[in-house]
Amino acid sequence: MSIATEANPDKVFLEALEQAFEDSNKDFARAYYLFATAKLSETYNSQEIYARYPVLSQEDTFRQLKVLYDRNPADEETKRMFTSVLETYIGAQVAELSDEFQNLKNKLTIDVADMGLKQPNGETLTQLLYEDVTEWLKKISEKPIRQTLYDRMAQAYTENLSQRYIDLFQIQNKMLANLGYPDVIGFYAKTSGHHLRKLGENGKKLVEETQEKYHQRMSALYEAKTGLNFDETATRADILYVLHSESEETKAIDQRFPQSKLVPLARQTFDGLGLSFSEVATEVDFADVQTYQREVVDKTDHPTHNGMPLRRILLDITNREGKRSRAYVYPAAVPSEIYLSVKPEGGLDDYSAFFHESGHALHFAYENPELSYARALMGNNTTTETYAYLFQNLFLNRHWLRHMAGLSESEARLAVQQRALEDLYMLRRYASKMQFELHLFEGVNEPGYSLEDKGEIYAKILTQGAGFRYDPEGWTRDVDAGFYVADYFTAWSLEAQLREYLCSHFGKPEVQGEDWYLNPEAGKFLKALWADGNIAQQDLSARIGYNDPTDVGPLLRLMAHNL
Ligand SMILES: [Zn+2]
Repeated sequence: MSIATEANPDKVFLEALEQAFEDSNKDFARAYYLFATAKLSETYNSQEIYARYPVLSQEDTFRQLKVLYDRNPADEETKRMFTSVLETYIGAQVAELSDEFQNLKNKLTIDVADMGLKQPNGETLTQLLYEDVTEWLKKISEKPIRQTLYDRMAQAYTENLSQRYIDLFQIQNKMLANLGYPDVIGFYAKTSGHHLRKLGENGKKLVEETQEKYHQRMSALYEAKTGLNFDETATRADILYVLHSESEETKAIDQRFPQSKLVPLARQTFDGLGLSFSEVATEVDFADVQTYQREVVDKTDHPTHNGMPLRRILLDITNREGKRSRAYVYPAAVPSEIYLSVKPEGGLDDYSAFFHESGHALHFAYENPELSYARALMGNNTTTETYAYLFQNLFLNRHWLRHMAGLSESEARLAVQQRALEDLYMLRRYASKMQFELHLFEGVNEPGYSLEDKGEIYAKILTQGAGFRYDPEGWTRDVDAGFYVADYFTAWSLEAQLREYLCSHFGKPEVQGEDWYLNPEAGKFLKALWADGNIAQQDLSARIGYNDPTDVGPLLRLMAHNL
């Protein structure tokens, strides 16, 4: 072998492209943080950033990369870059249509003048934004009003947006066919590494195996909250109310999670695992852009060479005007510049969202700085979501809830049971969506394919999975392009594999291993996994001895224990 790598034009091309991905990601992350969180910039202009990196959106780049991908579809780094460039390429072709769709959706309003909904200030609500309907569905206790609101929301969408959604759906499938990938399921299976059909089969199995327990628990909760019969009356309009409306019991538990204790609890937990959260995650609050530039940008670009890599989670917990309230993580550069933003409000949901994001942040903070950008941050979201769910699921861990979070035994039991039922609903929903999407995309580019029966199939599968009656038209509000559902569905089963592994290797059997989070050896194990970057789901499953990321066995076992 005597190929001079410098002269290999493919390699030069791939390296330049990867550099553009890496640099633009840094620019996007910083611009977003300054705009949405630090409030040090007035605008967030993504077009301007894209313009700095023309190579990312050029037709030539796409064509050249496609040749390399088609020649060697198994090469992980090429595949990750191709998937990303393809998304940009397709996105650019349908930009006008999808912007139009999004703008219409943002402006879509529902007439509610006759429904007697009152704002907090006592005024009667006359119009409601489509996007705000879900918040109201959580709060409305009268079933007929809830149903009317839901039906009007669904009707407004069907009249204004369904056909546009279907147009976009068909154009994107046709584009894939024209590029030489008519088998949409096969194409996404290859690029994501997901065994999509097996996920569908396992989803079906999961719905069947949990049917009895789910029906028993969900119908009891539904009847307790509404006074109505579950089988006869429960619809999709009721789900948020049944799962998220406040009760005396949930209020008491929420009070155990005050705003002020959020970060200290995270520190105590992660430091105890040996993850040095207190050192790695430094609190930031920048007075001006100059300070930000000096403290963040200069240090990332010129890390001091004391022999140790710079690992930094920039923890922004300041409650400033206009800061986005949902917790988020944005890795600008790994492991040196990872934004973790939260506007703590307190309460169980707020805490578990923060622990979820902390899982992402710690994963990125312990990546090996020598990894290529493609291995560090590109690829699908399955394994990073797995790590995020691992920490979010401390809220399903009785031992942690009692000994770390300070709940009483009965509070911990109740909190776990509620979360477990909510999770089972979500899981059955993903499992059902997975099955429906396989139906939807099966033969989508073949002659004779029709959307005619898809609504009925959707309603049947989702109603079976959720127990709440779904409306057939609802599918056009419920399918994301590119089988993202597979990432989340797999992350749930993979997290259970990881959790079961940690419990059995690092916890004490007398507490079913639930005290694994106290063992620094568990932290060491996680750090070794994280060091390898955004590994593929098969690799993670193999490293913990399951060898099949779609195996839902551990998930079913843990769920049975918690319900
Ligand atoms: Zn996440």
